[in-house]
Amino acid sequence: PVIHIGMATCGLASGARGLLDLIKKEVEKRQLNVQIVPTGCIGMCHNEPLVDVTMPGKYRVSYKNVKPMTLTQIFESHFGKNDFAKKYAVCQIPVEGAEPYEGLALMSDLPFFKGQVKIVTKRCGMIDPLSIEDYIAMDGYKALKKALTSMTPEEVVEQVTKSGLRGRGGGGFPTGLKWSLTQKSPGPEKYVVCNADEGDPGAFMDRSVLEGDPHAVLEGMIIASYAVGGAKKGYIYCRAEYPLAIRHLRKAIEDAKAHNFLGENILGTGLCFDIEIKEGAGAYVCGEETALLASIMGERGMPWPKPPFPAQKGVWGKPSVINNVETLGNIGHIILNGGDWYASYGSEKTKGTKTFALTGSIKNSGLIEVPAGTPLREIIYSIGGGMVEKKIPFKAAQLGGPSGGCIPVDGLDTPVDFENVVAAGAIMGSGGIVVMDEAACIVDTAKFFLKFTQDESCGECTPCRVGSKIMLDILTRITEGKGQEGDLDELVRLSMYVKSNSLCGLGGAAPNPVLSTIRYFREEYEAHIRDKR
Ligand code: SF4
Repeated sequence: PVIHIGMATCGLASGARGLLDLIKKEVEKRQLNVQIVPTGCIGMCHNEPLVDVTMPGKYRVSYKNVKPMTLTQIFESHFGKNDFAKKYAVCQIPVEGAEPYEGLALMSDLPFFKGQVKIVTKRCGMIDPLSIEDYIAMDGYKALKKALTSMTPEEVVEQVTKSGLRGRGGGGFPTGLKWSLTQKSPGPEKYVVCNADEGDPGAFMDRSVLEGDPHAVLEGMIIASYAVGGAKKGYIYCRAEYPLAIRHLRKAIEDAKAHNFLGENILGTGLCFDIEIKEGAGAYVCGEETALLASIMGERGMPWPKPPFPAQKGVWGKPSVINNVETLGNIGHIILNGGDWYASYGSEKTKGTKTFALTGSIKNSGLIEVPAGTPLREIIYSIGGGMVEKKIPFKAAQLGGPSGGCIPVDGLDTPVDFENVVAAGAIMGSGGIVVMDEAACIVDTAKFFLKFTQDESCGECTPCRVGSKIMLDILTRITEGKGQEGDLDELVRLSMYVKSNSLCGLGGAAPNPVLSTIRYFREEYEAHIRDKR
C-alpha cells in the first residue's frame, strides 16, 4: 500500500505536516508495511489537506479536507475491519492494471478536472517531487535524451517554434523565436535564465510547478542550453518567499547531477551545463527580464531600455535566453510529443494550455490547466464551481494581476487567450484569476492594484514613479468620499500618459486595472464621487 499526502504550500497551510506525523504514528501503531509519499499540489487547493490511499491491485483513492478523526476512519476502512470509507473519498485515480472501486467518481470525471488538460501540471500531485526516480518513471528526462541523441539544436528550435508556445510569464513572446535569436547571436558564451520571480498577488502557478515537479523545469533548461548552442550556465531566479520551491530545486539539481543529466559531459554527449539558484529579495520589478538580469549580476534590480534584447546582450553582456517556469516546464512534453501535438491544443493564436491560479469568491479555488481559449465562464462556473456564496452573484474577474484588468459579467464568454483577454481590457498575464462578487468595491480593487504597482515602482522613470502616485492620490480621495468632478477624466488622461511613456512593462501596464474598471464600472466610480462615499 501507498499513502500519498499533499505537502505543497497549500497542503502545509491546511495542516498537512501534523497529518503526516499522525499517519506515521498510525502506520507504526498498526505495524503496517506502507510507503508514505509526500507530493506537490494536484490543483484542488480547496480540498487540502488531501490524502490518497492505494491498496495493492486497486485504484488510488483521494480523501479531501482530511482531519485527524477522518484519518482514523480512513485507516480503519483500508487496514481495519470497516467498509471502504466512501463518504470521505472525493475521487479515485486510475492505476495501471488495477481495479476501480465501485460507485466512486474518477478524478477526470469531477467537474473541477473535466475541462482541464494537464501537460505542465501532469506530474504535480502525482509524484514525490524530491524523487528523481518518480520523475523518470513518468517519462522524465526522456525528452532530454531524445534531443541530445537524435536531434540537432536547429531541430529542437524548430519543434518549439512549431508548437506555437508563447512566453507564459505574461509577455506572450514566441518561445521558438526567442531561442532562435539566441542561437543565432554570435559568441561561444551564452546563458539560460529561468524567471521564477512570480510576484502577482493571487498568482501561484509557478510555485506549484516548482514545488510539485522541479525536474521538469531543469529538463526544459538543459534542452534550452543545447538548443541555443551549448550554453554552459543557467540561472534560476526565484523569489526568496518560495522556500519550499527553492528546497525542491536544490535537491533536484543535486540528483540531476548525480544522474549525469546536469554537469559535465551530459549523457556522454559533450554538453556541459550547470544551474545556479539566485534568490530574489522580493522586488516585483525583478520579474521584468532586464531588471532580473541586473539583479543576477549583483546590481540594483532596475530595467534597462531594449534594444539590446537579452537574446543579444543578457547576463554578463552575453546572449541569454529567458523563459519563465511554466514555459520551461512545457518544453520536455513538446520535444517528446512533437510541436504539432502541442499546437493541437488551444486557440488560433495561443497554442497549448495555460495554468491559472483561481482564487477569490469562488468555490473551487486552486491551480488549474486548461487549453488556451477556454471561456472564462467555463473556468469560473464549471471548473471553479461558481461563487462561494450562492446569494451573492459574480461581479468581475481580475485577470493578469496588477498589470491586468477586470472583466465584468458581460465578458464571461471571453475565450481566455492572449488576444481575446486584451480586447476585453485585461491581460492573460502569468495566470492569476481573482474572482469578485457583488460585495466587492470596484474602486477599492483598482486602488489595491495601483497601490501595489506604485509601491513596487523602481523609480527610474518619471511617468511611472510620479504619474502612478498622482493616480493613486486621486483614487484614494475618491474612496475617502472626497472625489471631485473631473477626477475620472484626469485618471484616464494620466493612465494613457503613464502607459505610453513608462520605460518598462510595470509602468506600462500599471494603469490597466484603473482603465478597465472605469470602462466597465464607471457608474460605481461616479456614485462614489456623487454620494461622497
Ligand atoms: Fe521603474 Fe516603473 Fe520606470 Fe519600470 S516603468 S523602469 S518600474 S519606474
